Amino acid sequence: MPAPEKHAVVSASAAHRWLKCTAAPRFEEQFPEENSEYAAEGTLAHSFCELKIRRKFLQLDTRSYNAQLKKLKADPHYLDEMDKTSDAYIEHLTEKAMEYNSPPSVMPEIKVDFSDYVPDGFGTCDCVMIGGDMLDITDYKHGKGVVVSAAENPQMRLYALGALKRYAPIFGNSIKRIRMTIFQPRAQSEPSVEEITHEELLAWGESIKPIAQKAFTGAGEFNPGEHCRFCRGKAVCKARAEKYSAFEDFKDCVPNKKQSDGETTLSNEEIGELLVKAAGLAAWFEDLQAYALKTLLDGGKIPGWKAVAGKSNRAFSNAEEAVSAVISAGYDEAIVYERKAKSLAELEKLMGKSEFNRICGKYVVKPLGKPALAPESDARPPYNSAAADFKNVAK
Ligand code: SF4
Repeated sequence: MPAPEKHAVVSASAAHRWLKCTAAPRFEEQFPEENSEYAAEGTLAHSFCELKIRRKFLQLDTRSYNAQLKKLKADPHYLDEMDKTSDAYIEHLTEKAMEYNSPPSVMPEIKVDFSDYVPDGFGTCDCVMIGGDMLDITDYKHGKGVVVSAAENPQMRLYALGALKRYAPIFGNSIKRIRMTIFQPRAQSEPSVEEITHEELLAWGESIKPIAQKAFTGAGEFNPGEHCRFCRGKAVCKARAEKYSAFEDFKDCVPNKKQSDGETTLSNEEIGELLVKAAGLAAWFEDLQAYALKTLLDGGKIPGWKAVAGKSNRAFSNAEEAVSAVISAGYDEAIVYERKAKSLAELEKLMGKSEFNRICGKYVVKPLGKPALAPESDARPPYNSAAADFKNVAK
């Protein structure tokens, strides 16, 4: 659950940022956290997960379970999908629990203290499972916009350090392996997993101690980069502005800038380099625009800029009455209404996954998506033009 971390200055969830930009935690303090609809949905989805763990692994009785489930479903942020994603989460945990020789201990929503490594560091693990020589922690992520990997994930490692400390008095030296899983059902078909040894985890913890100390005391340095994306101060941070407004940085991308040098077109190498540099610039520009628009809508001033209404499409104020009027005027219903089958996703939702697969599975195809530009480091395989060319050719 994200809530308790709200008050940790150097939090686990922001570790990927403060490990790179040690100035960020104190800088961000001046900007209030915004409560988004997404965050509220995420919190509610976590509550479903917690309740179902208690039912599955901790013998929560049927009556209490049903009563709590009903309450959660009455929440205005409730979506049917949460019931399904939390079921998938429990299925995943059950599969993991079955890997052990004897039933492991399963603990949901565990408060952990990793202040031995990060000043005032604390957080909450969604699920801790301990059995044999394994400490296993699983984090449920409800978001679908950004895929989160467990590989070298500092948030997971900090939670693991906290869990290790909490359970050491009970399990002693028996824990040798640490497995960390990110379960993100709306974004990845398979959970992301990292397993390291107990020693590796402790060594990593030691390595980040001085960085965390700097980040906590405010003695850190600003260091803009990709990690600025979720920084609360990203639109007004001067260090970031300096980085992206220093157009000098671009000068080496195009060595022969003057046309008098004989070159009139950019080489592909130059374009590659410019794209890398301009990606950060474009992201920064979008953040500036979003900040300026919000400021103007909140009544503030951004000299030279104003908020305007964007493009909109005409619509009926009352569609039912409008259609009745058309039919009353003598138009045939056949030209007013269009008969349309429900979409694949809607049918799957209505029928349930297995029934849908049984009846419709053989008709489902997944066409190659439109080509999009991505950096070499992107996890997706390169676009296969040959496969795209032949996709409509019958066998
Ligand atoms: S915007 Fe980037 S550089 Fe500025 S404080 Fe945040 S993370 Fe650091």
